Order: sequence, then C-alpha cells, then structure tokens
Amino acid sequence: MSKVLIIGAGGVGGVVTQKCAQVPEVFSHLVLASRTLSKCDAIASKIDNIPVETAKVDADNVPELVELIRKVQPKMVINVALPYQDLPIMDACLETGVHYLDTANYEPRDVAKFEYKWQWAYQDRFREAGLMALLGSGFDPGATNVFTSYLNKHYFDEMHTLDIVDCNAGSHGEHFATNFNPEINIREITQPGRYWENGEWKEIEAMSIHKPIDYPNIGERESYLLFHEELESLVKHFPTLQQARFWMTFSPAYINHLQVLQNVGMTRIDPVNFKGQQIVPLEFLKAVLPEPSSLGENYTGWTSIGVKVQGVKDGKRIAKYVYNNCSHAACYEEVGSQGVSYTTGVPAMIGAKLMLTGVWSGDGVFNMEQMDPDPFMEDMNQYGLPWNVTDIPVDEH
Ligand code: NDP
Repeated sequence: MSKVLIIGAGGVGGVVTQKCAQVPEVFSHLVLASRTLSKCDAIASKIDNIPVETAKVDADNVPELVELIRKVQPKMVINVALPYQDLPIMDACLETGVHYLDTANYEPRDVAKFEYKWQWAYQDRFREAGLMALLGSGFDPGATNVFTSYLNKHYFDEMHTLDIVDCNAGSHGEHFATNFNPEINIREITQPGRYWENGEWKEIEAMSIHKPIDYPNIGERESYLLFHEELESLVKHFPTLQQARFWMTFSPAYINHLQVLQNVGMTRIDPVNFKGQQIVPLEFLKAVLPEPSSLGENYTGWTSIGVKVQGVKDGKRIAKYVYNNCSHAACYEEVGSQGVSYTTGVPAMIGAKLMLTGVWSGDGVFNMEQMDPDPFMEDMNQYGLPWNVTDIPVDEH
C-alpha cells in the first residue's frame, strides 16, 4: 500500500492516474501535480475508489518540487510531464530520498537530441542514496525494451538484428494533430535519423529512408526510419546486436503538413522576435494544435508496436516478432483516452507497481531491459496490453 506522486496531467498523466487507481492494493493514495491545476482536478474527478489529491507545481523548479515531495511524502514519483523536467525531478527525488520513474529521456530545450548521457550521469548519486530511477517506462521506450529482453531471455542464444516497428493505423479525424505532446513529437521527427550498424551510429537525413512494413491485422503501411532513444540503451545492454533500427508509420497527410510547417519555419526551436517578444515557433505551433488528451473521442483504428529480432538459437538462425495491437476506441471506452496515451500510461503504471512491490529493485539508474522481463510481460496481459510472439522468416527485415 503506497502513496505515489504523479507529475504531469496531460494525455499520459490521465491514463496513468486511472490505471494506478485500478490497482488499489498497490497504489492506495495518489497525488497528481502539474502546471495547470484544473487539468489535475479534471482527472482526479474520474476516480472515487482511492483518495486522489491534486497540486500545482512548476517541475522546472527544484525547490518547489522538493517542497511538494516533502509535503506529500510519496514512496516514488512517476514523471509524465515533459522530457525537459526529467533532471529537475531527479534532483528533487535525490534531495528527498524518493524513487523515480519516467517515460521519456531528458533533452535540453535548445537541442533536439535524445541521449541518455544526462540521466546516466545520475547513476552514482542514485546508487549511493540507495534509490532507484527507472528510465523510459512507456511503450517505446518501455515495452519495446522489455520485449527485446524477453526475446533474448527465452528465444535466443545471441541476438543479431533488432527492428522496432511502430504503427498508428488510427484516425482521429483532425487535419493535423500529434498523439503525444506536439512539441516533443515534432522535435523527434525532424531531427536526423540514426541507426546502429556494425558498432557505430549511421546518421541519415530526417525521414529519408522508408519502406512499407506489414503490421499484423492492419496490413502494409509506409514506415520511416527514425532515431529513437531505446536504441541507445539496447545496443549498450545487448552488445551482440550488429544492427538496430526503429521504424514509425506516418500518413501522407501527416507528412504533407509537416513538410509545409517545416518549409515555412514553424518547426524552428530557436526564438524569433515577434512584436518585441521572443517566441519559439514550435512552442507557438503547439499552442494552436489539438491537445493529445483531447483526441480520444471518435478515434478509430489500432496501434501496433512490436520488436523483430533475428539471431541464433542452438546454432540455427531464427527470427521472432513480439507485438501488441491496441484499439483506440477500446482505450477511450475504458479511460477516455486515445491509444498512444494509453499504451504509454499502462507501462508507466506497471513499472511503478513492480518497483513498489519490490519485484523490480536496485540502487541506481536503470533502463527497462536491465530488469527481469517476465513479471512486466505478465502484467501487460493483465492490465490492457496483451501481446503475441510469432516466428517470422529469417532475413525478412
Ligand atoms: P501532454 O502535453 O499531453 O502533457 C504534458 C503535461 O506535463 C501537461 O499536463 C503539462 O502541463 C505538464 N507540464 C509541462 N511542463 C511542466 C512543468 N514545467 N511543470 C509541471 N508540469 C508541466 O503530453 P503527453 O501526456 O502526451 O506526454 C507526457 C510524456 O510522455 C512526455 O514526456 C512524452 O514524451 C512521454 N511519452 C512517452 C511515450 C513512450 O512510449 N515512452 C509515448 C508518448 C509520450 P500543462 O497542461 O500546463 O501544459
């Protein structure tokens, strides 16, 4: 029975709060804090089986966070605000002696580049404090890391190639909207692509490599090679990987909108002078786009996210594919959200549950693949993200 502080009341915050409340034997008391109190209150009002308090906090401000954590006295903090807040929240957890979990790695506001180096640098401080920080407990990163370690544990003697395949075959009915925070999403897509090959990173122009990939029960969708943060930790923790790539689908309409926005300078992250005020075009764009948490109603179709691994077992080359398909409409019916927030919020709850029950433990900073995958995989089946594992042809990908 634990009290937990959740920071961030957006699309993912709404799901993780409701999913924690579905497991009252572990999460007995929640406090939801964010920049906009009314969003916390709206989420809290959906829950009546456990106490959910709300609070206003600026998570860029360490003293403010420390004051809140001291007042709340949670066992851990679930950080589902934005990647910019990862380091201040980790600092505040260290100062107050509280465990930490997030779903996206830190990036500085002025460089769109995901790297774990900033958060891995906290390793000694968390270890010496006897605290655990679990990084990237969403779907990708998160479930994809666990899928990889599950395949490694149960099916392979040695893994050689890894392809993470992420399809959103859903339709929200908007001309252009992103399924998670628009600023973070567009920064991710417009930066150069990167993949791992033969011991080094290969960099490519953004969205310049793409191909149709066949997704289970969905069919072929054009998929673009992007850099995604879990590639960095997975090639570190599974050094036999000779190649590691990440693919994501985008519709032609999405690509057209993005190209126009880029061409006119609306995706820039450097400040421009507007009527005497410094404005970051991408931040302004975020303000006029739909909120991810508002996209659930009438969202149709499915997401399909999985991991394909090729390697060797008993001297034979084999290939395996583990994936989850998730219906946007079913997510909306259950918690009033679309599938991307749902597929992130459920693994965040599961990671926190495994930490609070001591099933996953350790002192220091950890990526998901460093933990035993089996209890996480069992919980995915139990809490709304069932998965399948299948054989696929060797050399198919
Ligand atoms: P939203 O934009 O919907 O929500 C972000 C929330 O964080 C908002 O409530 C926002 O407050 C709050 N926030 C922002 N800045 C601060 C601050 N300084 N102090 C306090 N609160 C703040 O985003 P999502 O819910 O879609 O995404 C949340 C996180 O999940 C992101 O880090 C995203 O990258 C990650 N994610 C991870 C995925 C994965 O699979 N691993 C997939 C999808 C998302 P306000 O409402 O006032 O703006």
